[in-house]
Amino acid sequence: MEISLDLAFIRGILTQEYERARNEILSVGVRRAFENSQQRHDARIASAPDVGTLACRAGCTWCCYFSVDVRAVEVFSILDFVERTFTTEEKARVYAEVRANSTALKNLGESERMKRNVKCPFLNGGRCTIYTARPQACRNYHATNVAGCQQSYEDPANLDIDPDFAPWVYQAGTAHVDAFSTAMRDAGYDVSAYELNCALDAARSDLAARERFESRLPPFTHLSGEDVPAEFDDLDP
Ligand code: SF4
Repeated sequence: MEISLDLAFIRGILTQEYERARNEILSVGVRRAFENSQQRHDARIASAPDVGTLACRAGCTWCCYFSVDVRAVEVFSILDFVERTFTTEEKARVYAEVRANSTALKNLGESERMKRNVKCPFLNGGRCTIYTARPQACRNYHATNVAGCQQSYEDPANLDIDPDFAPWVYQAGTAHVDAFSTAMRDAGYDVSAYELNCALDAARSDLAARERFESRLPPFTHLSGEDVPAEFDDLDP
């Protein structure tokens, strides 16, 4: 779907979020800064002028079978959320699914992964069980027409399906993520993108991963991340 970018709108978010994120990373640390940023992320999307056009509703889960990429800071935040809020049985179920998905996906390239449906380990009973800690990609994924999401689910190998989305929601969410990632990168932290299950499994298998991340080193020794350029790279503050 082609859209016209509202450059003033995007630049405003890039500048505001970058300044706020940079200051918070220095003052309260990267993990706390990220969790604060997630709250601003949700607020930005909720106040986008076209948020009322979204078809996304609780119980609609087509997109929870699509490939999700995350950054290391999200991985540690999700694991903390799971450890804090899940029962022992729920943790065992989730971690078993994470391991199975990771095993199935770890040797696939990005385009191969995108052509498969894999149930997210956090989808349970038709709802996201880590909703407040869900990845940035999930926060930004949205559609104005459920049919496109369903079609992608039913025909995962067809990467030409392009569900309709809301232009201002897209610009607000994407600019927000770009700005926080740029602030993290400028502070020296890893901002590579990793497949969700593989990164969760790697973090759980190697307890030193978190310390490496906090020390501004690449966190995962057996997992290579992808250097994803900011969507609005040319407009960075
Ligand atoms: S984290 Fe939640 S919203 Fe994201 S794919 Fe998994 S179940 Fe769906």
